[in-house]
Amino acid sequence: MSESGKTSFQSLSLRPVLFSGILFAFLLLGGTAGFITYQGNLQKRADEAQVIYKDLLDFRSTLTLIDQQLSLTPDRSEVLREITQNIKLLQFRSVNFQSRAAKNRMPELASWMRSSQLALEKMLTDIDMKRGIADNSIPLMILELDDVILQTAIDVRLANDKVYDAVQLFFFIVLAVLMVIIISAGWLIVSNYRQTVMPLSQLAEKLRMLNEELPESFHDTAEEVKKNIRREEFSSDVNQITDSIVRFCQDIELKNKKLDELFIKDEKTDLYNYRHFKDHLIVDVARAKRFNEKVSITMMDIDRFKAYNDANGHVAGDIVLERMAGIIREECREADIPARFGGEEFAVLFPRTDSREAIEIVDRLRNIIAAEPFYHEKELPGGQLTISAGVATYPDNAVDWYSLINNADKALYRAKQTGRNKVVHFRELEQEEGESAE
Ligand code: GH3
Ligand code: MG
Ligand code: MG
Repeated sequence: MSESGKTSFQSLSLRPVLFSGILFAFLLLGGTAGFITYQGNLQKRADEAQVIYKDLLDFRSTLTLIDQQLSLTPDRSEVLREITQNIKLLQFRSVNFQSRAAKNRMPELASWMRSSQLALEKMLTDIDMKRGIADNSIPLMILELDDVILQTAIDVRLANDKVYDAVQLFFFIVLAVLMVIIISAGWLIVSNYRQTVMPLSQLAEKLRMLNEELPESFHDTAEEVKKNIRREEFSSDVNQITDSIVRFCQDIELKNKKLDELFIKDEKTDLYNYRHFKDHLIVDVARAKRFNEKVSITMMDIDRFKAYNDANGHVAGDIVLERMAGIIREECREADIPARFGGEEFAVLFPRTDSREAIEIVDRLRNIIAAEPFYHEKELPGGQLTISAGVATYPDNAVDWYSLINNADKALYRAKQTGRNKVVHFRELEQEEGESAE
């Protein structure tokens, strides 16, 4: 699996996504709570400024009332008492105003209230001393108060604007957060599609092809799947699926190889079976016919094997069979097809081989087997385990694959008849037939 190569995006992992989601939710909750508190404070200040504004208007009307009373009857003691009451009331209010103005950050109002308190103090002293109140002192106060009222009206307006701005900012932030969430969700969906759906559909396509084409080697398909899927691009789930598919393909390939072997091999001797021998024989005879070549075969049979089995048991007989098969396999050439024909009979196909060469190989085989020491063979009638063999060659002694087998078998029969532990070529039988015909 290729581990190299830069990719345009990172693998998606659920944990960081979840973590960022939770963090984001907390930030959003905290931000909203903070904003609500902030906006509440702003609103409270705006309301307070509004109330102060109204109270100032009230303060002004009291001042106006005192001014009117003074202009009507400045010397009457009853009116003076009422004026004194009103001035005390204003004094009390101005103290109250001072602290509220300080609280609401209205410095002009606070400083005016301080000076008005002094002026009111002086008025009371003047009344007490029966000096009377200066004509212009109240109108002057009203004039200055009008400025303060104007400033307060501006403060009220500014406080309301602040509330409005804060709400606007909040909605802008909410909009921005929503956009971030939408973009992130979109990115997640696209990434998920590229990392999950796309590779899975690629795998599905590969498996579909695998089913359709049934390639000779599953290994090729597994390699192709590995080549086409670059693990770092995809989520770990997809990589796990890919790995198990590749493993699955490799398992199938291994099992296929075993099946192939079982199909063409004989289990006991590990030589080829009759089916494989016959398939090759048909093809080789057809090719020999076409290219004017020769094909030879031999049929071999263990001599007096029944007696050996009877004397030593089938297990010992099986060991002999396996050893003889091993010798046959070792002595054959690369292109030859050594097979177990059945029971204790063997056959070998020699492609592009004439009778002389075939007899030479088979006779060498017979000699090696005769010389091989086998368990308890000395107790046999001949004192050794041997084989007899019949050889036939196409096209010299046969017209097709079937008659080639038959004639090699006939030659084997002749070898048995004439003493065993020998190789007979079918040619000898033909010669004998020719001689007896003459
Ligand atoms: P001949 O020289 O005429 O071939 O005598 P033979 O005893 O070998 O021939 P026959 O056909 O009478 O007997 C073949 C024997 O081969 C019979 C059977 O016990 C033995 N045989 C066949 N297949 C197996 C096998 O797979 N394992 C063992 N142990 N013996 C087998
Ligand atoms: Mg036999
Ligand atoms: Mg035999």
